[in-house]
Amino acid sequence: MKVTTVGYWGAYPSPNGATSCYLVQEKSINILLDCGSGALAKLQNYIELEELDAVFISHTHTDHMADIYSLEYAMLIQTQLGNRKRPLDIYVYEDNFSVLPFEFPDIVHVHPIKLKESITVGPLKVSFTENLHEIPCVAMKVVNTEGKTLVYSADTGMTETIKNFGKSADIFIVECSFFEKQKGFVKGHLSTIEVAEIVNFTKPKITVLTHFPHFGETQQLIEEVRKYTTEEICLASDGFTINL
Ligand SMILES: [Zn+2]
Ligand SMILES: [Zn+2]
Repeated sequence: MKVTTVGYWGAYPSPNGATSCYLVQEKSINILLDCGSGALAKLQNYIELEELDAVFISHTHTDHMADIYSLEYAMLIQTQLGNRKRPLDIYVYEDNFSVLPFEFPDIVHVHPIKLKESITVGPLKVSFTENLHEIPCVAMKVVNTEGKTLVYSADTGMTETIKNFGKSADIFIVECSFFEKQKGFVKGHLSTIEVAEIVNFTKPKITVLTHFPHFGETQQLIEEVRKYTTEEICLASDGFTINL
């Protein structure tokens, strides 16, 4: 399994950046976890858009799905050009699809994410657990046929659920939206000291901090987390890739 951080900003992208989007590749299968603002432009540095097999949207905040409608248009045009022969499966954690302005039901097939149902895409199995956030939001676990595991927190406050869900992951991509001194200011997001607490419990092989704030120094995020844990921590960055 190959994991690439396509976009990693919270709220809105930095200049030439992108918000939440992670590309997971296994054999010839390509899936996206979230498709935030700026993600589509970045994604084309790694794959052709028509090579996508499925997209999973953790929740409907725009920093996690702003580019999904541009992706729908990309699929439409690539289909018209003959480069794409099948609809794209998009899974969204939102029951009321009427609020989602998808336009071309023959081009994208939109499905609900159900908490207790895992979804299989080729050799990858994706499962979910509910987070603590402003609106309904899921964390995701992707497992390949060899049992290698990626856990992506999406947006969440501190819960026992995310700690247990992330346990023994090979890669744990975890949101780190606030600095230590801001702990508790905003519900539904994690500060550095909380990330360290989670990582000390879950003990993933490697932790990737993401969903960065637009204030303070990103480097300070990792320094604060490392104050409280000796587990291996790194920062998401452009083209950051891990092979499992
Ligand atoms: Zn977010
Ligand atoms: Zn959110």
